[in-house]
Amino acid sequence: MAQIKDLSGYLIKTAERGPFDIIGDVHGCFDELLELLKKLNYSVSYEKTEQAFNVTHPLQHKAVFVGDLVDRGPKSPEVLHLVMDMVAAGIAFCVSGNHDDKLYRKLMGRNVQVRHGLELTMEQLGHCSAAFVRRVRDFLETLPHHILLDDGRLVVAHAGLAEHLHGRHSRTVRDLCLYGPTTGEVDQLGLPVRLDWAANYTGHAIVVYGHTPVHEPAWRNNTINIDTGCVFGGRLTALTYPDHILTAVPAHQTYATPARPFVEHKASA
Ligand code: MN
Repeated sequence: MAQIKDLSGYLIKTAERGPFDIIGDVHGCFDELLELLKKLNYSVSYEKTEQAFNVTHPLQHKAVFVGDLVDRGPKSPEVLHLVMDMVAAGIAFCVSGNHDDKLYRKLMGRNVQVRHGLELTMEQLGHCSAAFVRRVRDFLETLPHHILLDDGRLVVAHAGLAEHLHGRHSRTVRDLCLYGPTTGEVDQLGLPVRLDWAANYTGHAIVVYGHTPVHEPAWRNNTINIDTGCVFGGRLTALTYPDHILTAVPAHQTYATPARPFVEHKASA
């Protein structure tokens, strides 16, 4: 069996100062992602002969994806194709989400439970070339668990990250980045009970994350959750840094039903 590389590290890009458009959980919502990029002034074209997306921004913005590119939505391969091309061209960064990691393990032949939308992604990838699926696997393998930008003033991690772990690397840090802290208990639905790490965050760095859908992004202690549940019929949201502008597009439809209701957080003063 191929060697699984499940401990890719964090990525540090000290001199990258933005502006960045940090984009929440896409989950295969390709059409909404195109609309959001357009609203953010990116121009996206598809070069048929190269089979590649060409993306530019008039003010040299770069996109940063908080992860969970795939699962539950209608066009996960298209999202992967676009994001892989953007990362390859140096116009985007991307961290791994728990769904991306699970797809990676599935593509490595691991025995993972094919549910929570992974069954859809696998079905969609069944219509793609073997070369494309290999490219997806190699891309997912390299995804960092968190990214530090602008001299560490901006941290992006799928489920967020406590300050003392910024720029740290271990299996525990990686698991926190992908899944967030949990109590070790499960709720009545059999889902892990999550801890609200951001409530106690006291760091200076801004932490932008997703993972847990919210109706409305709210700043709490220099952190902001921008997963507005597009795949669940919500919106796809971007935060522009350093301007702190939120831009969103509505979902075209409800593609999946959430296992639990969206979380409501009160903004901190
Ligand atoms: Mn997600």
